[in-house]
Amino acid sequence: MLLDDNPQLIYGHVKAHTSSTDTISMLNHVADRLAATAHTNPFSRIAPLPTFALDQYVMWGEGVGFIENNLLLYVDGELARIRATSLHYTSGDRFPHPSLSIPQLFPYERSTLSYSALVQLYVRSGQLPTRRLVFLRGMAPSSRCHFGCHCAETPHHLFIKCPRFTEYRQSTLCDIHRVSSGLVECISSVQHEMVLNAISTLLVDDNSLFTWPMGHNTWYYGHSLYITKGLPFLPAKTVRSLSQAWHSCFIHLVGHIWGQIQRCGAYSHR
Ligand SMILES: [Zn+2]
Repeated sequence: MLLDDNPQLIYGHVKAHTSSTDTISMLNHVADRLAATAHTNPFSRIAPLPTFALDQYVMWGEGVGFIENNLLLYVDGELARIRATSLHYTSGDRFPHPSLSIPQLFPYERSTLSYSALVQLYVRSGQLPTRRLVFLRGMAPSSRCHFGCHCAETPHHLFIKCPRFTEYRQSTLCDIHRVSSGLVECISSVQHEMVLNAISTLLVDDNSLFTWPMGHNTWYYGHSLYITKGLPFLPAKTVRSLSQAWHSCFIHLVGHIWGQIQRCGAYSHR
């Protein structure tokens, strides 16, 4: 009857008291030893009894084990992680690996930042209509920077290098400097000075004191830099506050620069 209800069970004969090292012989040996010890020592260990029962089918995840609750949340998170990992390897350096991402609050929920979100979406998807892109599509006579620089007009050039927007970047650095001064008041004056000095290198990719997820400065993608690598002495709470404040300033700046480019009529030929 037991076998009828549990077809997965099998009965078999195991030869005892052998030196075999196969699994069933070793388990038989352990059971034998426990039974023999119990005769002389009433406090000997007994085989642990299961304290729970699994359903007939239970989800299991590698590195996680059995998924006992929040199955939908787990599946959603796993799908997002798989998609983000795939984007990292196929996006041409536009998406950081999900394990390297630094979670931020939700600044884009404010409508004033929705334009920046749109610009960052175009940049991340490789669709921002810089002169290089429109030239590659046969819609411009040259890929050279619209503002007279002797190089191709790429997002990296416009947002990091182009001298046309030096003033914008300086103004953002001043804002960051002001906000950060208040956030690092609790640390020593020497460390305070180090943080404020490091801020001047936030928007450059040469000689920057900070490390970025993709290995080079990508503030205009909306990426967050590794603050602790440049400033390891900062408390975790301060790092979080600085990261969020800087991230917010980067979002403003990307919209500010691209808005100005559009106002200049840089792409009025289209
Ligand atoms: Zn330029």
